[in-house]
Amino acid sequence: FDRRSGEVWLDGEFVEWQSARIHVLTHGLHYGSTVYEGERVYGGQVFKLGAHTDRLFASAETMDIKLPYPKAELENATRQLLERNQIVDGYVRPVAWRGSEMMATSARNNRIHVAIACWQWPSYFDPAARMAGITLQTAEWRRPPPSSSPFQAKASGHYMIATLSKHKAENAGFHDALMLDWRGYVAEATSANIFFARENRLYTPRPDCFLNGITRQTVIALAQEMGMEVIERHILPEEMGEFDECFLTGTAAEVTPVSRIDHYQFKPGRVCEALVAAYFALVQPAAAQGERHAG
Ligand code: PMP
Repeated sequence: FDRRSGEVWLDGEFVEWQSARIHVLTHGLHYGSTVYEGERVYGGQVFKLGAHTDRLFASAETMDIKLPYPKAELENATRQLLERNQIVDGYVRPVAWRGSEMMATSARNNRIHVAIACWQWPSYFDPAARMAGITLQTAEWRRPPPSSSPFQAKASGHYMIATLSKHKAENAGFHDALMLDWRGYVAEATSANIFFARENRLYTPRPDCFLNGITRQTVIALAQEMGMEVIERHILPEEMGEFDECFLTGTAAEVTPVSRIDHYQFKPGRVCEALVAAYFALVQPAAAQGERHAG
């Protein structure tokens, strides 16, 4: 990944991709004092850039990181970076971390660095391929209780058990892992929220110990506009057999139907189809307009 070409915004300047480097004694690397965002670009525009920027700042504040640039400057840098790299459909990764001045748990005076990178990531609207669904394996690691980690922050430290769990699931032939929370309720996938459907009702866990995803909130609103009832409540793993459909939501995942979790089978159907289509129509305004003109 670091051998690509293009430009990265690093601490206020546009630098060549391969020159965007950090020191090995970076505090963020050793102690996880790092926060980041994941944004998706459709037709040259970041979808919900404001919400992502707000979350980056909220994550930073939670992690006692004071970002040295105002929101507007980071958003402008993002727009310029997309232009300079000629990204039409892609992904943006802003990241902020403590620097290398002090190598100890306490590093209050370490410089806060900020970088933004982006790359091409076309979003294919192929409903048939999507409707095949992905498979999940329940992870052995659980999302910690809110008393053990500031779960609202999109902070790198939270992803240690996500990567462990995803690797284990992939090694066993699954696409992703399902993480339970510390109580044993269904929580989320490793980088996406989860929903279940029965008839015209959606069920999703309350985000009381994991990220309340921007896509999750968008899809809840879309479902309600379409007349579905959305129920946020605790979901026990044993209950999964009672649902007809299941899907994940996330900036990267968009709306991804799930066909199996461990031995529970789901049949992506009417609900998945409707929400996949509604989400694409929302994020890809140009494509949706084309459809509207055609219709
Ligand atoms: N949970 C986790 C752990 C994530 O990393 C993500 C991706 N940011 C999500 C949920 C979904 O969040 P969003 O819809 O804001 O991308």
